[in-house]
Amino acid sequence: MNCIFCKIIAGEIPSYKLYEDDKVMAFLDVNPYNPGHTLIVPKEHTLDIDSIDNDTLMHIMDKARDISKLLTEKLGCEGFTLIQNNGFVQEVKHFHLHVIPKYVTNLEMNVEETFEKITH
Ligand code: 5GP
Ligand code: ZN
Repeated sequence: MNCIFCKIIAGEIPSYKLYEDDKVMAFLDVNPYNPGHTLIVPKEHTLDIDSIDNDTLMHIMDKARDISKLLTEKLGCEGFTLIQNNGFVQEVKHFHLHVIPKYVTNLEMNVEETFEKITH
């Protein structure tokens, strides 16, 4: 399947991975809204909110809570926003939940530096 997130999950395309288990994976967005912008995806290819099963959806929300704590602790964001796009506003057609850290004072950091800061 020609799906960019399936290729990331399979390790065919590199990513800055923050979390993985048998059901889901979380990695930094390549074009972040803010430093630490993370995407959480189901490992099984699933289109959108309508087609994802409840257990996986709840698991993704649970991991969003963990990721937001990690970003708050490591990057010092003062808030965060969860977004999930469907239909014509969904660019990548593999379900993903955005976890977007928010900073009172803008933080300038590239994705590589951000990954280093979160994981070290
Ligand atoms: P959507 O509009 O579908 O909710 O957002 C898709 C997101 O995926 C965008 O924020 C975009 O920057 C991100 N994205 C697209 N291609 C890649 C990629 O190859 N790697 C990573 N890490 N993120 C990607
Ligand atoms: Zn996919």
